[in-house]
Amino acid sequence: MKINLGDLQGESGSRCYQETLSDLGLEALGDSSAAVVINLDRREQGDDLFLSGKVCTTLTLSCDRCLAAAQLPVEGKLALWLLAAERPELDPEEQDLIVLAPGQREVDISGLLIESIKLAIPPKVLCRTDCRGLCPNCGADLNQGQCGCDNMEIDDRWSALVEIRQELEGN
Ligand SMILES: [Zn+2]
Ligand SMILES: [Zn+2]
Repeated sequence: MKINLGDLQGESGSRCYQETLSDLGLEALGDSSAAVVINLDRREQGDDLFLSGKVCTTLTLSCDRCLAAAQLPVEGKLALWLLAAERPELDPEEQDLIVLAPGQREVDISGLLIESIKLAIPPKVLCRTDCRGLCPNCGADLNQGQCGCDNMEIDDRWSALVEIRQELEGN
């Protein structure tokens, strides 16, 4: 996603942009037409510009317990320096910054948006907080009802299979 620097100068206040997951190449994480809403505030510091804000979207991922599709609203933080010239006190390892070429009118912040969305995905994805998962014996989806197995003893062989399947699916 490219932002026009001319848009950012002048008027104060935050800017809102809208993209889709497929615009960002993130269709693997959900519905390709799902809206990605970006809000940016700007602060000028001399010739430099500091952008901060958030990126919000809804991803569709597979539940870590039952493997069903889980709708997951995520909100990622954004922070980016646009610099007129190198600033030695700003470490590119610690913050995102772009040194603008003379006369540059546009910056592409797609990489920043993608990284921020991915960082906002929780370590455990659940279709709902009380998801009952799959039966460790027969693999039945326990959200659909009991399967009839005696699950007093947890057999973790099945959860190992679930993990392998998730790895194969790239989650
Ligand atoms: Zn689930
Ligand atoms: Zn069962």
